Amino acid sequence: MERADFFFEHVPNWQIIVCKQCRYAVWPSEVAAHLTNKQHSRTQKFANNIREEVEQWQGVIQYPSGFDVPAFVAEPVQELPLFDDGWQCRLDQCAYITRETKALKKHWRIEHGWSVQQSRGGSGPAKQEAAQRRFEEASKRVKCQRFFRSRAHSQYFEVKVADDEPNDTQNGRGGAEIWEMAWEAASASYEQKKKCDIIRPGESDEVNPWLRRTGWVPYLTGCPQGDLLAAIRRPDEHAEEREEGVAGVVWNAVGDMAVMAESGVRRGGVMLRFEAIRTEIDQVRYAPLEPYRERERVRKECQPWQQMVIFFVRTQQDNTWQTPPYGFNNRQKKSVPAIDGGRKAGGRPKRGR
Ligand SMILES: [Zn+2]
Ligand SMILES: [Zn+2]
Repeated sequence: MERADFFFEHVPNWQIIVCKQCRYAVWPSEVAAHLTNKQHSRTQKFANNIREEVEQWQGVIQYPSGFDVPAFVAEPVQELPLFDDGWQCRLDQCAYITRETKALKKHWRIEHGWSVQQSRGGSGPAKQEAAQRRFEEASKRVKCQRFFRSRAHSQYFEVKVADDEPNDTQNGRGGAEIWEMAWEAASASYEQKKKCDIIRPGESDEVNPWLRRTGWVPYLTGCPQGDLLAAIRRPDEHAEEREEGVAGVVWNAVGDMAVMAESGVRRGGVMLRFEAIRTEIDQVRYAPLEPYRERERVRKECQPWQQMVIFFVRTQQDNTWQTPPYGFNNRQKKSVPAIDGGRKAGGRPKRGR
């Protein structure tokens, strides 16, 4: 009789299981339902046995809340099909991917209030050509994959294969494209390094190209990973220590600031929002900055900002672990006394630096 590994493959890098026949990920709790579906049509009893076996597997994320779809990957996930017919939205650094042009147009209309048709009425080749040009400007052909077939985490993510031809000319580039090129350069050098460096074990030691791009590698070298990760965790509200109290205040303040900023966007006029979305002085943007459709989302989406700020708060505190030896510039230093004052009130000596 078949065992669980006849049907499912464990993908350790992503901590998921993929059905070998269907080639998409299945949650452990849905293994039995999956095997009794039309595709596999196994008996309930048989499916339950397989589910029990899968439940014993280590290193598998159990629920959708524990999983995050990456914005992109540098190498395809082998267990999943790779599609080379993806269309990626290029408006507002949105990066949404679909494989249907119709769906992309609908996405533009709903998410960006944008259309390839500039004006109502009229027809003929000139107008069609203009629409085609606008379509090309706002989209990009990409390779893509997805983990799940439906519901949570079923969105496509881009596969940035390193040997992709650079498909843009040098002129008139927006911020997004410059970052994209930086990414491509970084991932190409990453691939290169991997190739020449096969003797060295442990690819998990390899520095993420994005981190390399920020220039932070020398500051993080030698710092204990566990402590670094702990430095970006959400502050514990029930902790006794004064430091956690300070961290909690800062964490919530960043969250509140994000909410205020979002509500500013919500109330701002369209011209203001067109200004607000630019990241470069001479940038031309096709759609104004939009508020979230669900207001509550801003609280969740601002977490990376909270983590960034909290990292500086925590690494500026007196720590028993080796913190990154970075320094603030003058402007940044000026914003620190508030945190510092709070800490001094706690009666702890300031560490010499
Ligand atoms: Zn299947
Ligand atoms: Zn979009």
